[in-house]
Amino acid sequence: MHIPFDNSYASLPDAFYTKLSPTSVKAPKLLAFNRDLAKLLRIEIDDIAEVTQAFSGNSVPQGAEPLAQLYAGHQFGNYNQQLGDGRAILLGEVLDTNNLRRDIQLKGSGRTPYSRGGDGRAWLGPVLREYVISEAMHALGIPTTRALAAVATGEDILREEGMLPGAVLTRVASSHLRVGTFEVFAHRGQTAELQTLTDYAIARHYPQASGPMDLLRHVCAKQAELVAAWMSVGFIHGVMNTDNCSIAGETIDYGPCAFMDEFHMGRVFSSIDRQARYAYGNQPNMLMFNMAQLATALIQLFEDKDAALEEATAIIHAMPEQIEEAWLKRFAAKIGIATPNPEDAELIQSLLDLMQKDGADFTNTFRALSGDSAQDQFTDRAAFQAWSHQHVARISAEHDPQAVMNAANPAVIPRNHRMEQMIKAAVTGDLAPFERLMTALATPYTLTDLDLATPPALSEIVPATFCGT
Ligand code: AMP
Ligand code: MG
Repeated sequence: MHIPFDNSYASLPDAFYTKLSPTSVKAPKLLAFNRDLAKLLRIEIDDIAEVTQAFSGNSVPQGAEPLAQLYAGHQFGNYNQQLGDGRAILLGEVLDTNNLRRDIQLKGSGRTPYSRGGDGRAWLGPVLREYVISEAMHALGIPTTRALAAVATGEDILREEGMLPGAVLTRVASSHLRVGTFEVFAHRGQTAELQTLTDYAIARHYPQASGPMDLLRHVCAKQAELVAAWMSVGFIHGVMNTDNCSIAGETIDYGPCAFMDEFHMGRVFSSIDRQARYAYGNQPNMLMFNMAQLATALIQLFEDKDAALEEATAIIHAMPEQIEEAWLKRFAAKIGIATPNPEDAELIQSLLDLMQKDGADFTNTFRALSGDSAQDQFTDRAAFQAWSHQHVARISAEHDPQAVMNAANPAVIPRNHRMEQMIKAAVTGDLAPFERLMTALATPYTLTDLDLATPPALSEIVPATFCGT
């Protein structure tokens, strides 16, 4: 196998990382390998055994410069001064066929100096979950890290649930720079490192940015788009801590995330999110909190801190409008409106209110709007009919509302009960449900597998998700 590494992070000062190799595993077995992504990354393969060796951490491919990255972060609102890659190792970077720089990172690859009490490992469940959901997100057209490989380690690891099979995920990202990467240097008063990091982030992600304040502006814009995109498919990240918030604006760190079935603004899946901090409808607020932390860090770079604070505050205060605009564009498309007017927000909101009142299925309700079965999602049919009249009147002026709706409303999403069934089967060695999900989710806007588009039966509902790290 040849990976055309072109590393840049490893050349940054020592303060940014600890260089170390992954810990090898007992009996690696390749569970999944993303050949299309490998091609995009210009990885050449002649022997699949080498793929298994490299993406289990048993051999370090030529040109890799493995390291664990340092970062900190606000977790559930509280600052944690040292996090870092506790179970991940960056192998290095490649320039893909579009000449975009991509990180290749192993997750679950053993202890690092940032592991604290953890074992540095991951179990099969979260590895396959991230594999499926991140690739589904990509197919939905939403910025995300991607999955290159999943390898079973042949070692059992201890989790709350007992002994579980270990696995390593190989993930690909535009970078692993997080808000927390900036926070760690700002909080320590390491201004020189903060400046180096800022220059690096600008060069890598926003070369058009004129300086730290402009970087902030770009990250806010990207993240505003991202959160609106999540909401448009009913996605709840579940752990939007600043260490899980990407500077590149990609969805990163799939933990207790989930797509909701029945629509509710207050929906929470994560069993550790007891205050509903990261509830579906609270994601815009939490994004603003995260961007405020990035702003606070970047202000350290300015001599005139008062002026910088004023400018940064204006950028953060512009976010609600920015998110609202992105949200309106996404949701208007979902009801067939290509270029929304501000008044369309009310029409969308009244539909969401009806959906919430009746517990309508988020995905299937929107998908059905382009046909004539949406009313089946509602118990209060009269209320839906009244809404529908307004809707029909509004879209009569649109060019091709059906096409707009079908391009904005997926038929199939990674439903939570399907994810659980897939994991249960995989633990017994049956990867058929995994393969089936991967196939259907590769073309989410086309219905190819009706079963996977069906909401859970009462007995199948999986109401909570676990970090499962
Ligand atoms: P997360 O909530 O997955 O973003 O993880 C938060 C922090 O905990 C990161 O610094 C992780 O590297 C660390 N962490 C999570 N799981 C483990 C583990 N099994 N071993 C060591 N560190 C871990
Ligand atoms: Mg994380």
